Amino acid sequence: MISTIGAGIGGIASAVRLARKGYQVRVFEQQGKPGGKLNELRVNGFRFDAGPSLFTLPQLVDELLAGSNTSALSYQKLELITRYFYPDGTILNAWAEPERFAEEVADKLNDKRTDVLRYLKESRELYELTANTFVYSPFPQLKNFFTLQSLKLAMNPKKLKAFETMHEVNCKFFTDFRTIQFFDRYATYNGSNPYLAPGTLTMIPHLEHNIGAYFPNAGMYAITTELVRIAEGLGVEFVYNAHVDKIDIRNGRVVGIKVNGSGVESSYVVNNTDIFTAYQTLLNEVPLTSRLAVQQPSSSALIFYFGVKGSHPQLDVHNILFTSDYFSEFKAMEQGLISDDPTVYIFITSKRIITDAPDGHENWFVMINVPPNTGQNWEELRLKAREAILAKVKRMVGIDLANLVVAEEYLDPLRIEHRTGSFRGSLYGISSNNRMAAFNRHPNRSKNVKGLYFVGGSVHPGGGIPLCLASAKIVDNYFKTL
Ligand SMILES: Cc1cc2nc3c(=O)[nH]c(=O)nc-3n(C[C@H](O)[C@H](O)[C@H](O)COP(=O)(O)OP(=O)(O)OC[C@H]3O[C@@H](n4cnc5c(N)ncnc54)[C@H](O)[C@@H]3O)c2cc1C
Repeated sequence: MISTIGAGIGGIASAVRLARKGYQVRVFEQQGKPGGKLNELRVNGFRFDAGPSLFTLPQLVDELLAGSNTSALSYQKLELITRYFYPDGTILNAWAEPERFAEEVADKLNDKRTDVLRYLKESRELYELTANTFVYSPFPQLKNFFTLQSLKLAMNPKKLKAFETMHEVNCKFFTDFRTIQFFDRYATYNGSNPYLAPGTLTMIPHLEHNIGAYFPNAGMYAITTELVRIAEGLGVEFVYNAHVDKIDIRNGRVVGIKVNGSGVESSYVVNNTDIFTAYQTLLNEVPLTSRLAVQQPSSSALIFYFGVKGSHPQLDVHNILFTSDYFSEFKAMEQGLISDDPTVYIFITSKRIITDAPDGHENWFVMINVPPNTGQNWEELRLKAREAILAKVKRMVGIDLANLVVAEEYLDPLRIEHRTGSFRGSLYGISSNNRMAAFNRHPNRSKNVKGLYFVGGSVHPGGGIPLCLASAKIVDNYFKTL
């Protein structure tokens, strides 16, 4: 039997794959429902997707659902990905279609259409050059990196852009600081800082503009519920309110787990909990490698879920209200602080799913990036940030939320840490703020303990839904069909 610890997207996806290969899989989840970070929240008649809001590479979910007549995920490609508001009053619509988007940039900002198209072309090339090695293959080891599999990369080291930061690469392409800020923002898609993260991450815009950003028609949480439905159809058993205390190891191989104090025998264990938390709690006899021990967690988030009176057509589903000083915003985070004028992201699913808010209302997910939890006074920081956000929304889009919020909840790094076991409340596992990050992540199979596997955002290949799904695929490849 395979015991999976955690029903995050990585745990569920690996359970689907292994059940298909004929294994008996049980998923133990400490919460009362599945999803981990990919969850939902209901407050006074409003429904909110609680965590991820942007859905890319949906084919990785389709692959899992293929052939099922009980489960399907319907989604639509977004024509307008995100609406950007700049402090100088510029509004930039990030159209998905590259030509249309390039024209929008040329029209609203001081950069050329051809430069945007060239940037997106290089972004595609970078993705195609690196995805197989860094995303879909087992852990990239430095010793074989410049040999077989990565010959193409070895021949194109400059194309990898690993020796410049994202910001430096963006400055080479564009002259208008607003275009640079636009492309710098993609660093936050895996919780990084564009002034530190390697230029290799300039492949991220390719996912949105060349492949596409998608919106699940029943909301992001439908990704979780549909995958659970198919897993159950394949015989996977989900056990909720089941806190795993320990992974039992005998003679260098897993023999089971302890769940709420009782033993469960298992020949294999797939761990979907955060890697740091796993080593500190479940695997306390096995030392964390010195290389991983020094890695920094990615950024976290502070989110307000506001039930808002009225309908606000100036906003779309995804919206960004930029700060005028992006560098200072990231500098503050490096110091464990929150900028006085943070960039604000607003996600409103009720624009498309009318049942997500009562009549005449909208459901606003309002998020700012914040540092991971290192013991800050989060209550104080949250109240201060709330004021700054309300002032910014009024100033930049003319909506006075103070009189319009009729329901409210929040998520902060402490709650993320407590609810999902995520180390310091990080959203994406270890940070990608250095060029060695891809080599520093924990592999998907244990080197020291036979029968022990790892999936999810804190291990190879990294955080975010597509990468978690890729980690499940890598784990699956270690198992033969029964
Ligand atoms: C606010 C926010 C916004 C995000 N935005 C995006 C986005 O737009 N797009 C995107 O692709 N990604 C986004 N992400 C990242 C994405 O959500 C994660 O990378 C992904 O969901 C992590 O999945 P996972 O498989 O690592 O498991 P997790 O979601 O981390 O779940 C782990 C599970 O393990 C359970 N668990 C932990 N310890 C135990 C234990 N001892 N016993 C039993 N169960 C245990 C937890 O309860 C949890 O359910 C966002 C994340 C957050 C929080």
